[in-house]
Amino acid sequence: MRLALREVTRCYPELTALDGVDLAVGDGESVALTGPSGSGKSTILHLAGGMDRPDRGGVEIDGEELTARRLDAHRRGTGFVFQRFHLLPALTALDNVLAPVLPRRVDFDRRERGMEMLAAVGLAERARALPSELSGGQRQRVAIARALVGRPRLLLADEPTGNLDSVTGRGIVDLLMNLREQFEMTMLLATHDAEVAASCDRIVRLQDGRIVADDVVAPAADAL
Ligand code: ADP
Ligand code: ADP
Repeated sequence: MRLALREVTRCYPELTALDGVDLAVGDGESVALTGPSGSGKSTILHLAGGMDRPDRGGVEIDGEELTARRLDAHRRGTGFVFQRFHLLPALTALDNVLAPVLPRRVDFDRRERGMEMLAAVGLAERARALPSELSGGQRQRVAIARALVGRPRLLLADEPTGNLDSVTGRGIVDLLMNLREQFEMTMLLATHDAEVAASCDRIVRLQDGRIVADDVVAPAADAL
């Protein structure tokens, strides 16, 4: 999916969260959003996922304006991963994964799809575990399986490693990058961690609601 923010401004009564942001993301591209707390990273993710609307400017999906009429379909085609996992504590891993598709009419077997996604994150054998029985890294894997259960074409991740130690976080980032390729998703990832950002194709730096840098990541020397 191609995604573009065109001259997007998002204002709150006390401050301008985004100020004339132009950002185009190619199909299958991964872009890291970096910058200090409050610089507008989450706001960009919410606008990209159709969970928030710009005050000025527009959001384009595959070259078409994301109008009110298209919002629901766009949200269903978007996966979201959070810093604090946001799993439902009383539900098993599998039921957490299935939560987004339960209220929907779908053309696939939900259980089968849920198990497929748990397998994709390496947790098929923990399908019946409760979140409290899982480690932080495992909880984030369940949350990733949940984000993928509707087979989104766009994956949005907001500080997905922010609550994990660096080794576990590294594993989560590698998993996200592999899944992005496997399921051919476009990805936006907000992070404070420079190493996490460097796993993406591009790093966009924000400050006070504006883009102050936009750099292609050079391939790692060991990948050449
Ligand atoms: P980041 O993700 O880079 O930390 P955010 O996009 O969350 O930044 O926030 C950008 C600015 O907008 C911050 O100053 C934040 O406090 C403010 N903001 C975000 N959401 C709201 C809201 N619902 N009401 C008021 N201000 C908000
Ligand atoms: P998580 O850690 O799970 O990613 P956060 O604590 O980062 O969640 O953000 C929770 C929500 O609070 C976000 O949707 C963000 O837009 C909103 N938010 C951030 N800053 C403000 C603010 N100043 N006022 C109101 N809401 C805010």
